[in-house]
Amino acid sequence: MDLRYRDDQLAVRDAVRAFVRERIVPRASEWSEQGEFPLPLLPELARVGLTGLAIPIEHGGAGLDALTTALVAEELGAGDGSIGLTLAAHNSLCIGHVLTAASAEQRARWLPPLAAGTYLGAWALTEPSAGSDAVSAKTTAVRDGDCWVLNGQKQFITNGSIAGFTVIIAATADRRLTAFGVSRENPGLVAGKREKKMGLHASDTAQLALQDCRVGDADRIGEIGAAFGDVRKVLDRGRIGIGALAIGLGRAAVETAIAYSKERKQFGHALAEFQMIQWKLVQSRTELDAGRLLIHRAASLADAGLPFTRAASMGKLYATEAASRAANASLQVLGGYGYLRDYPVERIVRDVRLMEIGEGTSEIQRIVIARDLVAAS
Ligand SMILES: Cc1cc2nc3c(=O)[nH]c(=O)nc-3n(C[C@H](O)[C@H](O)[C@H](O)COP(=O)(O)OP(=O)(O)OC[C@H]3O[C@@H](n4cnc5c(N)ncnc54)[C@H](O)[C@@H]3O)c2cc1C
Repeated sequence: MDLRYRDDQLAVRDAVRAFVRERIVPRASEWSEQGEFPLPLLPELARVGLTGLAIPIEHGGAGLDALTTALVAEELGAGDGSIGLTLAAHNSLCIGHVLTAASAEQRARWLPPLAAGTYLGAWALTEPSAGSDAVSAKTTAVRDGDCWVLNGQKQFITNGSIAGFTVIIAATADRRLTAFGVSRENPGLVAGKREKKMGLHASDTAQLALQDCRVGDADRIGEIGAAFGDVRKVLDRGRIGIGALAIGLGRAAVETAIAYSKERKQFGHALAEFQMIQWKLVQSRTELDAGRLLIHRAASLADAGLPFTRAASMGKLYATEAASRAANASLQVLGGYGYLRDYPVERIVRDVRLMEIGEGTSEIQRIVIARDLVAAS
């Protein structure tokens, strides 16, 4: 196994790291306080290719492979979880579904404006009563001539109230799932309550209502009743992204803790000289590196066209839990100051928690891994 990265992968990572340090890190705290996604940032994100990571170059995207996309997600997480999650929903979920299942004509129509950051994308699977058990979705799509009429409720949709294009998953006749691309101009797609969250305050999370939402059959994505298979493929890749985002968040917390421990003196010594402090830093950094390796293994398998479902779930499970532990340990290193908003660590502790929940909880990852283990033996 080759654990080195290609020069072009490192060049993309370094360019994104520089952009994040210059344009995102200094403003992350302010955006969090404002409590909404900073839409003026969108053209800047588009200019550096962050709104079309995996979109092929002929459709205006960066055409990145899964491993490079994971390197980018980590850098975004190290800068700001909210911007990272916004772009994860846009790139991995919305665009991911289009890349997985849309026709050539739909890709040519939908991908260029998404890549250009003309608007953000969203992906609506979850419903008030269908979370982990997504297959029980109650939103209906009923055929009416050349159209489909969608009715139902979606819950927890990232970018829900600001997206220009949303992939909606609904149940067709025999309760099997079908996907549709719906534009913001459609009067039947109504953004509802914007959720107040524990963290990720600059990421938009909204309820969506589908009220006699008429969608042309030309905007149906994939085969009728085949969306659940596509959803699983989208989530497999999405989990690599969420794991990488979590590693970035954890890394930023540990970097803050290391810097602080060298400056702060107690009992006449820098905190960094105390073995118990060192142990926290060592444990956190080691676990984050292990999580990154699992995530990058999954991405490498995906890029090689090999099965990666189990590897992606293992990576997401381990990386997100390791990142939460690292963020908490880092907060402890800062003592009382870690609890204040003067340092980014308290925000990271709140932001990183979602990574163990979104795109399949830790429990669901364990179920996916267990099923795969049992099936393979
Ligand atoms: C900030 C945020 C952003 C999100 N963005 C999106 C988005 O853009 N699009 C979208 O479609 N969804 C989105 N989600 C939804 C997210 O994917 C779900 O919250 C998640 O899948 C869990 O579903 P649930 O919240 O309904 O919990 P539930 O499914 O009700 O689970 C509750 C608890 O029970 C556990 N549990 C459930 N089933 C089992 C089982 N069989 N065995 C053991 N334990 C089980 C869960 O692990 C969890 O701990 C978002 C959620 C949040 C909070």
